Amino acid sequence: MMDDRKILLLNSDYRALRFVNWQRALKLMHRDKVDIISEWNDTHIRSVSGTITLPSTIRLKRYVKYYHRARVKFSKSIVKKRDRYICQYCGKGGREERKKLTIDHVVPVSRGGQNTFENCVTACFSCNNKKNNKLLSETNMKLLRPPKKPSIVVCYGIDAPSNHHPQWKAFLSTL
Ligand SMILES: [Zn+2]
Repeated sequence: MMDDRKILLLNSDYRALRFVNWQRALKLMHRDKVDIISEWNDTHIRSVSGTITLPSTIRLKRYVKYYHRARVKFSKSIVKKRDRYICQYCGKGGREERKKLTIDHVVPVSRGGQNTFENCVTACFSCNNKKNNKLLSETNMKLLRPPKKPSIVVCYGIDAPSNHHPQWKAFLSTL
């Protein structure tokens, strides 16, 4: 549970930089580099200075100009995560099936389709096979939902409501 808890790191101007794990957050706190903006009220950790509440958002005291900012980069594993490991044509699948799932290009590569979040969906083997190199309009298949670029919380695997801190909402639009 503790490892599922991510901490949002903000620059001193409150712009979101990325998510860090609790070990990294503790180090920054210990070195007095950050202010605590919000906390995970239900998660406590023991440190050298006693028990503390795990922060959910921390802000750097000093502005960092060149910080490696988190970005949503295309990858097939994130497409599957975004689709919650469900075939976007027939609805079958699930996390335990994730190794068997494939990626279907809505517009097939052979017809100019690209490797983008908007053109790739999770598909089971049989739906992928059925669709083959056809356009959707040439089949009677339908997508469960239009594929979109996922949000940064999907990429970090923290889109489950219990792992998503309400305070983040205000900052995530800058990521
Ligand atoms: Zn399917």
